[in-house]
Amino acid sequence: MTMTSIYDWNLAQLQDIVENLGFKKYNGEQILRWLYQSRVDSFDEMSNLSLLLRETLKKSFQMQLPKILQKQKSSDGTIKFLLELEDQRCVETVIMRYVYGNAVCVSSQVGCNMGCSFCASGLLKKVRDLKVHEMIGQVLIAQKELDQTNERVSHIVVMGIGEPFDNYENVMNFIYILNEAKGLAIGARHISVSTSGIIPKIKAFANEKLQINLAISLHAPNDTIRNQIMKVNHTYPMQALKETLIEYEQKTNRRVTFEYLLLDGINDSSEHAHELANYLRGTCCYVNLIPYNAVNENIYRRSSEKNINNFYDILKKEKINVTIRREFGNDIDAACGQLRAKSEGKS
Ligand code: SF4
Repeated sequence: MTMTSIYDWNLAQLQDIVENLGFKKYNGEQILRWLYQSRVDSFDEMSNLSLLLRETLKKSFQMQLPKILQKQKSSDGTIKFLLELEDQRCVETVIMRYVYGNAVCVSSQVGCNMGCSFCASGLLKKVRDLKVHEMIGQVLIAQKELDQTNERVSHIVVMGIGEPFDNYENVMNFIYILNEAKGLAIGARHISVSTSGIIPKIKAFANEKLQINLAISLHAPNDTIRNQIMKVNHTYPMQALKETLIEYEQKTNRRVTFEYLLLDGINDSSEHAHELANYLRGTCCYVNLIPYNAVNENIYRRSSEKNINNFYDILKKEKINVTIRREFGNDIDAACGQLRAKSEGKS
């Protein structure tokens, strides 16, 4: 039987665990600091714990991180990892460099069932949800990489492989651990979760205690186009999504980010830009336009620079807060799912 991982637990849970094992509550905080501040690789290194506690922990928990199968570094500083999990399944994790810090893009599932037609991960289908420690493992591997240059992971985006809200409980537990002040201490406002629009989970997310950022992968200005490219829209169409997001904004006082992938000839015309602006009216939003990074298996093409700029200009004129997303790692396989697809011989 596989042992549970010590990386599955937040501070309160670690305190309960040590108390239940017959030790002192404060040992829980010591363990958390060793794991996330000192980032040790073994229980033996936790030198301020008694030998008995260290031996007990060794018998009860494993503390293995995913194995790095591949690491690609781009000339712009982007680092992409292909990681192998306990069952030899693979996920991807990316470190992206911004002026304001280092963001890690975390995968939440092995594959994804949402089947968005433009996405490499969607082509691979969901195999399983990631456990809490497998998401923590991605962040720790990124942090250990950055430790070499005395840098820190400052931001987390749960936008890698998978639909985070299809693995809601584990993703939220993962975020609560990231946020522990005595651990990695990543502020809630520096954490973003991106969903394709699973309405019941957006409602649950509005009730979370932390002020985490919500991003919606919208990618279309109307239901006809969205139904074609995102299966989720058949279940949660755009008007219902908008109403939910307005409720979310009222409840949380947080602005929602809309991700919009520009696909040549599909959703990138002037008409589409105006239609999108109309749809967004009444929401307090921010739009992130993403030039499409072509994936081999796919039928879509990247929009021309002219269309990208025209789309941007129209949204600006319509008084929508909009940016064009900077691209990362153009010289490596940086689009979601590309590295994993290659490793499995799909491209
Ligand atoms: S875009 Fe996101 S939700 Fe859609 S298939 Fe890809 S990983 Fe899944």
